[in-house]
Amino acid sequence: MKRFASLTTRAFLFSFLPVCVVLLVSFLALNALVQRRVKYELRESLQKSEDLVIRANEESSRRVSQFVKVVADSPGLKAAIGLMHEVPATPENAIEIRRTIERQLEEIHTQVGYDFLAISDWKGRTIAAVYFPNGKLQSPDQMPEIPANLSVFEFSGEVYELSTTPIIMGDEQIGNLRLGRVFDLNRYQLGGDTALLRNGRILRATYPQKAWAPLAEQLRQSCSSTVMECELHWNGETLLVLQIQEPGLWPTYRVVELRSLDKAAHEFTAGLLRIFGNVSAGGVVLALLFTIATSRSVSKPLRKLVAQLRVGGQGHHFPERINAGRAVTELQVLADAFNEVAAAARRSRDELERAKDAAECASRAKSDFMANISHELRTPMNGIIGMSDLLLLTELNPDQIEYASTVRGSAQALMVIISDILDFARLEAGKMVLTPEAFDLSRTVNEIAELLSAEAAAKHLRMERQYAAGAPTRFIGDVVRIRQVMTNLVGNAIKFTHEGRISIRVSCLEQTEQQASMYLAVQDTGIGIAPEKIHLIFERFTQVESQTSRRYGGTGLGLTIVKQLVEVMGGQVGVESRPGEGSLFWVKLPLPIDTGSAQEAAEVLTPSEVKTC
Ligand code: ADP
Repeated sequence: MKRFASLTTRAFLFSFLPVCVVLLVSFLALNALVQRRVKYELRESLQKSEDLVIRANEESSRRVSQFVKVVADSPGLKAAIGLMHEVPATPENAIEIRRTIERQLEEIHTQVGYDFLAISDWKGRTIAAVYFPNGKLQSPDQMPEIPANLSVFEFSGEVYELSTTPIIMGDEQIGNLRLGRVFDLNRYQLGGDTALLRNGRILRATYPQKAWAPLAEQLRQSCSSTVMECELHWNGETLLVLQIQEPGLWPTYRVVELRSLDKAAHEFTAGLLRIFGNVSAGGVVLALLFTIATSRSVSKPLRKLVAQLRVGGQGHHFPERINAGRAVTELQVLADAFNEVAAAARRSRDELERAKDAAECASRAKSDFMANISHELRTPMNGIIGMSDLLLLTELNPDQIEYASTVRGSAQALMVIISDILDFARLEAGKMVLTPEAFDLSRTVNEIAELLSAEAAAKHLRMERQYAAGAPTRFIGDVVRIRQVMTNLVGNAIKFTHEGRISIRVSCLEQTEQQASMYLAVQDTGIGIAPEKIHLIFERFTQVESQTSRRYGGTGLGLTIVKQLVEVMGGQVGVESRPGEGSLFWVKLPLPIDTGSAQEAAEVLTPSEVKTC
C-alpha cells in the first residue's frame, strides 16, 4: 500500500519550509545590503582617518620645525658654519671645520635624538652630516645630496623623514639644518596595512618584505598612481587601497593604506549568521512543537474516528454513531455528515433486506408453483403421448399418420421442456433427491453417444468417444442425473457445431480404493463462446445471444440444471471456449467405486448426505 506523509510531517513541511526559505532569502538580501553598507562605512571612516592623520602630521611637522628652529639657533653651530664662510677653504681647514660641525650635530643629536642630521650651505650642498644606524654615530664618507623640496630622503638603505630649518646669521641665510627621523609607517596606520612607495616600488610596508614585490606589482596593475582610491584582490581578499596625500611626500613618494573589505564584511556576516543560526534553531524547535500540537489536535480525533469506523467495519456494518469528541470543527462536521450517511445507509439496508426477503419469498412461491404446475402438466402430457402412440398403432391413412406423429413429436418436445422446468424448480427449491445405484460409466457414455449419434450424423459431424484405459468404470451414483448432464452437454455440442467433430472423453483424476475423481469432457469444433459472455452461460435463463433462441431454440435452462446437478453430486463444471474454434465443457465428479455390493454402495451415498443448493 502506498504510504503518504503523515499530517504532522506535512504540516511541518508546509509551514516550516516556506518560513526557512523566506528567512534564507532575507538573510542573503540582508547580507548583500550589509556588505555594501560595511564597505561604504569603511571607506568613509578611512577617509576621515586619513584627514586626521594628515592634520596630525602637519601639526607634528609644525611643532618639529619650531623646535628645530630653536636648535638651529645654536650659536656653536652658527659659529662653525660661519668659519666655513670666512676661513680660506684649504682641504685641511675644510676637514677640520667639518669635524667641528659634526661634533655640533652630535651634540644636537644627544639633545633631540634625530637619526640623521646634516648641514647644507646656502647653495644647498651638504657640508656635514651624521647618522646613527643602531644608535651608533657614523659620518658619511661622501656627503649625500639632499633634495631641497622633499621631506623624505633615502640614505644608506634607510628612509628618513626630513625637516628643514634655515640657519640665519644677521640677515643672511648661511645654510640649512636638515634633521631626519627614520620613516615611521605606524604614523599612517589606520587599522589596516600601510606601504610607502616610490616609482611603484615599495620602500617600506607593514607586510613581510617578501610580499613587497608582488604587492607592488598588483598595485601597479589595479591602482594607477593618480587614483586616490581603488580595490584590489590580494591573497583571496578584496582590499580597499587609499592613497594618503601627505604634502612633502606626494607625488614622488606615495603612502598607501590597505584595508580588507571582506574581513569587515565577514565579521559582520559571521555575527549575523550566529544570530540567524540561533533564531533558526529556536524557530525549528518552536515550529516543530507548534506543528505537533496543531496536527495532534487534528490527527488524534481523526484516529479515534477511524478506530470507531474500523470497529464498525469489522462487523460489515456502519457503526450506529461515531463521536468526534472535542475535535476541531471540521472533524465534528465530518463526524456529523458520516452519522447522517450511516443512518441513511442503515435505512436503505433495512429496506433492501426487506425487499430481499420479499423477493426470496416470491421466488420460493414461484418455484413451488412451478414444481407443482409442471408436475400437473406431465400427467396430461403423458396421456397425450400414450394416446398418440396407441393411435399410431391403429389403421390410419397417410395424412392421419402424419398428424398423429406431429402430435406425438410436439408432445415429446413439450415434455422435455416441462422436465427441465420441473428439475430446475426442484433444484431451486432444494428438493432434488439423488437416487444412487451401481452403474457402468463407460457403458453410460457409450449409450449417450449412440443415442445422439443419429442427430450428429444428420449434421455430418463425427462423434468420437474415449474412455481412458485403466480408469475405473463401475461406480455408485445417480446414473439418471449423470446421463442427463452428459446428454445436455453433448446435445449442446451438436446444436452449436456445424462441421467437424464432437468428442467425449472420460479419464480418472484421482483414485482411492473407495472413490475416484472422474473427469468428463465434451469438446466440439462449433461456434464457441465470446470471452465476455462465458461467465453468463451457467446463469439461469441465459443464452449468449438473443438470436440464439431464435436460431438454435432452447430455454437457457440446460446449463443451469447441469451446474446445479453436478454441484448437488459434489462435483464442479467448467468451460473453455474460443469463438469460431469450439468449446470444451468439463465436469469433475467424485464417484464412489462400486466394489460389488449394491447394499454397500447404497450406504455410501444415502439421501441424507445429498447436497442441495
Ligand atoms: P439452451 O437450452 O438455450 O441451449 P443452455 O443453458 O444449454 O441453454 O445453454 C446456454 C447458452 O450457452 C446457449 O444458448 C449457448 O449460447 C451457449 N452454449 C451452450 N453450449 C454451447 C456450445 N457447446 N457451444 C457454443 N455455445 C454453447
